[in-house]
Amino acid sequence: MSDNIEKVKCLIIGSGPAGYTAAIYAARANMNPVLYQGNQPGGQLTTTNDVENFPGYPEGITGPEMMLQLQAQAERFGTDIRNGWITKVDFSGDVHKVWVNDETEIHSDTIIISTGASAKYLGLESEQKYLKLGGGVSACAVCDGFFYRNQEVVIVGAGDSACEEAHYLSKLCKKVTMLVRRDEFRASKIMAERVKNTENIEILYNTETDEVLGDGQVVTGVRVFNNQTKEKQEIPATGFFVAIGHKPNTDIFKDYLDLDETGYIINAKPGTSKTNVEGVFVSGDAADHVYRQAITAAGTGCMAALDAERYLAAKDASFEVNTATNY
Ligand code: NDP
Repeated sequence: MSDNIEKVKCLIIGSGPAGYTAAIYAARANMNPVLYQGNQPGGQLTTTNDVENFPGYPEGITGPEMMLQLQAQAERFGTDIRNGWITKVDFSGDVHKVWVNDETEIHSDTIIISTGASAKYLGLESEQKYLKLGGGVSACAVCDGFFYRNQEVVIVGAGDSACEEAHYLSKLCKKVTMLVRRDEFRASKIMAERVKNTENIEILYNTETDEVLGDGQVVTGVRVFNNQTKEKQEIPATGFFVAIGHKPNTDIFKDYLDLDETGYIINAKPGTSKTNVEGVFVSGDAADHVYRQAITAAGTGCMAALDAERYLAAKDASFEVNTATNY
């Protein structure tokens, strides 16, 4: 091994709630974790305005502020937090190899993957504009629905997520208009039926988004078109929810880890953070297509650090499980 290859005990990839929580636990367990933040330090939550459902913040907190606090907590215990993007991995040997920005090679005994998932968006300029402004575009009804109480919203998508989110919104909002691009749902029958039977959800079939309308600061409506008749209409709305699926950020692991058909990492042993490669653990949305919440990501980040610590202890008798600080 070349002298200039850095060797670490624990390398964490990703800086959302899963990665930072893993870092807090790993640092307190003397694993000297190194955490690479990726291209979006703080992860998906940095695109959320107010987080009101994370326990411990009775007044709520903004997503970016919460991520800065988690980062500070991880740093307080000595986590080495670095900017950088992991571009390649090699998990074929006993020591796991990663490359940062295609250049720097690092070898680590344990890897904790917390790379998350990215919500898919339509890609319209107006959609992206109001998303960045925090002005009424969201890909998470559970996170943001509360801010649209008694208001009218539009949701795009026809899968199980869209149905679940439309139903969730229907309990808070005055009216939910659902845009389905084909003449049928992709969702399971039971989920689609539930939406169809909800009084304040209006379903527009064969309908796509032309433009998200707004006043320059916040969303005021959505212009849609029927893809059969080409007819356009404007729907007044203060919120535009996109529920057209998520893409887990796992491409670089596909040659080594078991992934499902969408790309989510499959837990080798349910109820743990273990992957099919010894010493490689997963936490957060990279393995979770069901819950996708900051608090569940944080929980699995904790699990991954504990699993990594036990793995290290079993592998190296000189490394002691730090029970005093962990449990
Ligand atoms: P899906 O891929 O199942 O559905 C995506 C939906 O978005 C489809 O209806 C698709 O339309 C639509 N869509 C995609 N691109 C566009 C676009 N550009 N414009 C308009 N519509 C678009 O994703 P989900 O997130 O809904 O579900 C992912 C997985 O998670 C599924 O396996 C699902 O069953 C599961 N899940 C299960 C839940 C449960 O059981 N409680 C809850 C949530 C998810 P089209 O149909 O025309 O392709």
